[in-house]
Amino acid sequence: MTISEALGRVRAAIEGAEAEAGRPAGSVTLIAVSKTFPEADVRTAIAAGQLVFGENRVQEAATKFPSVKADFPAVELHLIGPLQSNKAHEAVALFDVIHSVDREKIAAALAKEMQAQGRFPKLLVQVNTGEEPQKAGVAPRETVDFVRRCREVHGLTIAGLMCIPPVGDPPAPHFALLDELARRAGVPFRSMGMSSDYETAIGQGATHVRVGSAIFGYRDYGAA
Ligand SMILES: *Cc1c(COP(=O)(O)O)cnc(C)c1O
Repeated sequence: MTISEALGRVRAAIEGAEAEAGRPAGSVTLIAVSKTFPEADVRTAIAAGQLVFGENRVQEAATKFPSVKADFPAVELHLIGPLQSNKAHEAVALFDVIHSVDREKIAAALAKEMQAQGRFPKLLVQVNTGEEPQKAGVAPRETVDFVRRCREVHGLTIAGLMCIPPVGDPPAPHFALLDELARRAGVPFRSMGMSSDYETAIGQGATHVRVGSAIFGYRDYGAA
């Protein structure tokens, strides 16, 4: 299957899931996750009408996207992976949306860079819905307070929440929890759902789905 065909299938499945959930067509944004895939694949997806992309490493995105964005200014780039505060400068310069705000140190570093650069990416707070010790994200019970502190202490506007359910868990309860926390925090975006479960996520209120392998194919980390 070509990237263009795969994109067509994913778009159709998103439309189907929106309709089934009784949600308006176009209410879900598809983020095409291009990590490990070359710039040429990104350009192929752009030719097929895809303008929103996700990368999980600042460094990797910095090798592909400056030239892509120069050629296609409408491209919107999302950081969906972990962020260290020493990369805040580069992240604010390159990304339009950052999904991985998960501690005060990052919030403070982003606030400082955004003021310095006069560039204001939208920000999402990552929530560790499965409370996995090795996984990034704030604990569910701390989420509403963390969003409030981002606003009140750091002057940041938080646009939404993001989660990655534990491998092997049925994802729907995690998506439902994220939706409920977003409602309680008063933020509009819910970034949830990947290749294997984005239709489920749409049923639970996802506004952004992050789909990689279903568009670009199998990821060969060994060769990357
Ligand atoms: C890689 C990645 C995705 C996409 O995963 P697929 O299963 O290939 O769709 C989504 N979200 C995050 C945070 C990722 O790192």
